[in-house]
Amino acid sequence: MLDGAAGKQRSGRNEQGTDGRSGQDVAERVVHAPLRSKVRAESTAAADSAPRRLGATTRDVVTLLNLIDGELVPSASDRWLDVVEPATGQPYARLPSSSAADVDRAVAAAQRAFPAWSARPASERAAFLRRIAQLLGERLEALAGDESTDSGKPLRVATATDIPRAIQNFEFFADAATQFSSESHHDAGILNYTTRAPLGVVGCISPWNLPLYLFTWKIAPALAAGNCVVAKPSEVTPLTAYRLSEIAREAGLPPGVLNIVHGLGAEVGSALTAHPDVKAISFTGSTAVGSEIARVAAPAFKKLSLEMGGKNPNVIFADCNFEDAVETTVRSSFANQGQICLCGSRIFVERAIYTRFRDALVERVQRLVQGDPREPATEQGALVSEPHLQKVLSYLALAREEGATALTGGGRVQLEGRCEAGYFVAPTLLEGLPSTSRINQEEIFGPVATIMPFDHEDEVLGWANSTSYGLAATVWTRDLDRAHRFAGKLQSGIVWLNCWMVRDLRTPFGGVKSSGVGREGGLEAMRFFTEPKNVCLKVHS
Ligand code: NAD
Repeated sequence: MLDGAAGKQRSGRNEQGTDGRSGQDVAERVVHAPLRSKVRAESTAAADSAPRRLGATTRDVVTLLNLIDGELVPSASDRWLDVVEPATGQPYARLPSSSAADVDRAVAAAQRAFPAWSARPASERAAFLRRIAQLLGERLEALAGDESTDSGKPLRVATATDIPRAIQNFEFFADAATQFSSESHHDAGILNYTTRAPLGVVGCISPWNLPLYLFTWKIAPALAAGNCVVAKPSEVTPLTAYRLSEIAREAGLPPGVLNIVHGLGAEVGSALTAHPDVKAISFTGSTAVGSEIARVAAPAFKKLSLEMGGKNPNVIFADCNFEDAVETTVRSSFANQGQICLCGSRIFVERAIYTRFRDALVERVQRLVQGDPREPATEQGALVSEPHLQKVLSYLALAREEGATALTGGGRVQLEGRCEAGYFVAPTLLEGLPSTSRINQEEIFGPVATIMPFDHEDEVLGWANSTSYGLAATVWTRDLDRAHRFAGKLQSGIVWLNCWMVRDLRTPFGGVKSSGVGREGGLEAMRFFTEPKNVCLKVHS
């Protein structure tokens, strides 16, 4: 059974009946148990005598520290936030609750480090990045364990995807540092050449869903281009960012080149955004916070890269490779419990294959193994936090109000044993909602997808483009003309044809409309983190 009130499962398949139609009442599957939030109320300095040894454990609680000017330090105020393991609902770490004073110190350290760091040959900067990549690689297993504990994602996902990609980010931008070039323009008697200088101190702010993966996706190009960085990881998943600060020290990165300041977005993130000496903000997170960052940063004319929310369509035409489309749609809707900005949460299927596709998808989703993220077989772990769990459950309640049918899933799952208080939701497929419903328009960012039939290409194009978002889309068809035609008309920064999540790090990454401003990846990132200057020389013959 899927809902906690009705039964428990230790770890195993989603066990709802295959017809799934008996479970139309979505909200009945929602169990609101009183659980703790992922980041809990601040503990006072007096309540805890803070262990100062790095990663030290006191009463089994790991203490994380800021990296400022090459030192691992608590916040100036000595305030702390508790961090909870989402699979168990138990606190396992505490992190500094930093403030503007800590950001000021970090920015000052970065400014001091900038002249020497930016003057180094690119090959030297690249060597530091490679050393960090190497150290990450040596600790892949431990880092994957940390990422899984911190975020609730299956260990196999962190091992196969998150940490390898963090390593690749440093390797890729080490290469980029040495390959990056700028333009020159020649004309009669005129030579223009363009220099690309690093900006100075830049801010990198990242979310919780792919913690080290996205944190390093910003830090690596910023450093490669010669900037010094003040970075703020999500307070919800700070552990691997802390491990990165240990590794940066071990790699011999000069003090101040990379600073990592932990704490709440409203305190640390906003202080970083508003700081007059921070020249650019690279942000990944929600559209609401991105909008707030733009409001604060725009009047100071800071460079901004904003990677934000999505409500991505999967468009499946009748001539698709059926098996591949079903298998990939399971991943593209439910990987990382649907907590990937690129997940497709609206599945549109051409009517000729709708019933067959829907039933195959339901059958496949019900075979997903949900359980303790540490178990090697687990494919579906926990949602990241209690507040996020409540948000997803509230959308399931809304789905009922809007008239949805849950084909599978539809509520909370309560496991037994170690994970009995964890934040698990069954992968849920909803049917019967119009494209205009709130469920089909708003980002849920959980294991919840809708499925609906379409008749015509123009009809489904209108639905696909009907939200305020435009991050990613997948299209499944064997008709090449249609594939290109459709891709060209999609309002989306990224289109995958007959695949999903295939990433070449050289390609531009980002969204349109409320999903983003600017592009990351490859040369786009190197351009973002540098300022072009054109020098014009009149050449006398
Ligand atoms: P969030 O916006 O709540 O937080 C992101 C980061 O911003 C965190 O580090 C947070 O502390 C910080 N922050 C919060 N308030 C701030 C403020 N006022 N000023 C500056 N920083 C502030 O997002 P989240 O809940 O951590 O992540 C989920 C969201 O991220 C989803 O909307 C998802 O779509 C999006 N996301 C987008 C992409 C992409 O590439 N487009 C990738 C991953 C996640």
